[in-house]
Amino acid sequence: MRIPKRVAVIGAGSMGSQAMWRLAARGAEVIGYDRYAPGHDRGAAGGETRIFRAAHLGEPRYIPLLRLADRMWDHLQGETGFALRRRSGCLVMGETASPSMSLLLAAGSTHRLDHEVLDREELARRYPQHRLPDGHTAVLDRMGAVLRPEASIQAAAARAEQLGARLHRYTPVREIAPAAGGGVHIVTDQGTGHVDTAVVTVGPWINTLLPDLPRAVDVRRLISSWHLPTRHDWFAGGAPAFVRSTPHDCYGLPSPDGMSVKLGLSFKLGLHSARHLPVADPERLERTVHPEELATMREFISELMPDLNPDPIRMSAYMEGYTDSGNPLVGRLPGEDDIIVMAGFSGSGFKLSPAMGEIAADLALDGTTDHPVDFLAPAAAGAV
Ligand SMILES: Cc1cc2nc3c(=O)[nH]c(=O)nc-3n(C[C@H](O)[C@H](O)[C@H](O)COP(=O)(O)OP(=O)(O)OC[C@H]3O[C@@H](n4cnc5c(N)ncnc54)[C@H](O)[C@@H]3O)c2cc1C
Repeated sequence: MRIPKRVAVIGAGSMGSQAMWRLAARGAEVIGYDRYAPGHDRGAAGGETRIFRAAHLGEPRYIPLLRLADRMWDHLQGETGFALRRRSGCLVMGETASPSMSLLLAAGSTHRLDHEVLDREELARRYPQHRLPDGHTAVLDRMGAVLRPEASIQAAAARAEQLGARLHRYTPVREIAPAAGGGVHIVTDQGTGHVDTAVVTVGPWINTLLPDLPRAVDVRRLISSWHLPTRHDWFAGGAPAFVRSTPHDCYGLPSPDGMSVKLGLSFKLGLHSARHLPVADPERLERTVHPEELATMREFISELMPDLNPDPIRMSAYMEGYTDSGNPLVGRLPGEDDIIVMAGFSGSGFKLSPAMGEIAADLALDGTTDHPVDFLAPAAAGAV
């Protein structure tokens, strides 16, 4: 009888819960560890919603990974029976001549993405929530969707446990160390265990556990704020998720939190990375959001979404690891055959999480993957 491989998944959050699911589904002996418990809101994955898009950073190398993620979201929903993704479409708006918009428009036609370009009049007719300045373009990504992060993490972790995975909740891993005869020692306050391979998916805590990564991951604090419309019919024709690059780097999406009187939705807004403050210690994230931190959001609302109430009904702070290029580190640590890392998703990783679970299982069980992730290798010199 073949002895199953023992694989530790350290961090059962966005990536780790999916890695546990895929590893358990493929017959590995899976031992998960989390500092808290699946679905908590202290890391990179709180706040009810995340955007799914068919394209990412205008970078075509993500397209096959997003296609894999698309299939894996369906697979997870099918296996668990939970509705984790709602196709709302996603509007991408920006200056027509900007590099990111040009790349998106080119990728859309080269890769036959289900994209529709909307001019100003068409946008105003179909999505009157938004204003589009002169010289800007809107693209409707019809594969765009709203994902449910907490529910997805709990669904994937629970499915992994049904398939035989063990998960140590409220058990921070203190150290991982290559073992002399092969494999890896996992050190917790309860003792030391030995596994064949460790998959490290600790998100914004990555520098605490692996301080010498080949590419730097800077941890930053992100604010989300939830707003109600000032018009009762604001959500009526559908209010898809959106991302905009200029004049404010901003994104937003409907939040199914029961808040608006009419449809039980509010609208969540967030800013892109340039304005995020650094987080020195992920265990001491400043969770209070101060009113002055919303100044840009208020400007954005008054200029570009004037029928949203600028006074938020809620504000929350989260954190995420960013790399210089925006590309995560995915693969074996250089010189450590038995340690696989997935970190630094730079504000865009949730949509990819079930694809990352599948890739983690490939790397841990087969030693390699057919999915195109070489450009994300931890030491990839040319990582864009
Ligand atoms: C506000 C905000 C909005 C975002 N919007 C989007 C979006 O719209 N679309 C999108 O695709 N992405 C988005 N992202 C990015 C996405 O959410 C992240 O890329 C993703 O959640 C990162 O997942 P992770 O597994 O690396 O981290 P996490 O989900 O934080 O998981 C890390 C886990 O490791 C555990 N852990 C930490 N240290 C230890 C330890 N020593 N031992 C054991 N366990 C440990 C933690 O408890 C946690 O459960 C957003 C991020 C933020 C913060």
